[in-house]
Amino acid sequence: MHGCHPLTIEVTTYGASQVITPVLLHDGDECILVDCGYPDSIPQLEQAMALAGFTLERITKMIATHHDIDHIGALGALKRLLPDAVLIAHEIEVPYLEGTQKSQRQEQAESTLHALPPEAVPAAEQFIALLASVEKAAVDRQVRHGDMLPWCGGLEVIHTPGHMSGHISLYLRASKTAIAGDAVVIEEGELHIANPQYTLDLEEAVASVRRLMSYEIDTLICYHGGCFQGNVQDALRDLVNRNSTMGRTHKETE
Ligand SMILES: [Zn+2]
Repeated sequence: MHGCHPLTIEVTTYGASQVITPVLLHDGDECILVDCGYPDSIPQLEQAMALAGFTLERITKMIATHHDIDHIGALGALKRLLPDAVLIAHEIEVPYLEGTQKSQRQEQAESTLHALPPEAVPAAEQFIALLASVEKAAVDRQVRHGDMLPWCGGLEVIHTPGHMSGHISLYLRASKTAIAGDAVVIEEGELHIANPQYTLDLEEAVASVRRLMSYEIDTLICYHGGCFQGNVQDALRDLVNRNSTMGRTHKETE
């Protein structure tokens, strides 16, 4: 028996509440957590896991889709709590997760600091300090595009760069379910590229949506937005069309 449980976690950041959706996969004794939330969101994670019928201690593997704080903030603490849990990430993400290289998000925030209006600088500096404070975690297993992990009837790694260069999505063959991470997000019922301001390479992000289109997906789980309601293939195609039209219009007006 295996299963896939999107975990609905409500968190408050900068005074605003938001819902994030890590995913718990289980297959026999294996319990695989895909993304884990902010540094202080372990109690909420524990609660959401309990609702799905699992305790935190059951986790045997953790997969990081990419090294953004809302996805991996709690990884270091989880690894301390669960020293035997195996951390899996794309090879590009390893130096960022392990802290041998500065986070891409921090680099981005630092590089745009000088262009901000003075009143926005303190918040940006606070954000940078927060990113710098994220606890690092050693990666136990590196993966790349096309790798097949043996759980839940085959868990395929899809490299979906753009939002970040080592970003991965996952495809569960048996249930035709895709765990998108931040490759796409749901806003007001529609699929979108994750906040373009935080997308490091927009063109690559659109190419990654095209890549997702080559999988037969019945269920699409987005970290921001949860399970997509509607025809996934049509929605992905529509997203690509909207963005390629933007690209063309842009070029024509140059
Ligand atoms: Zn992200």
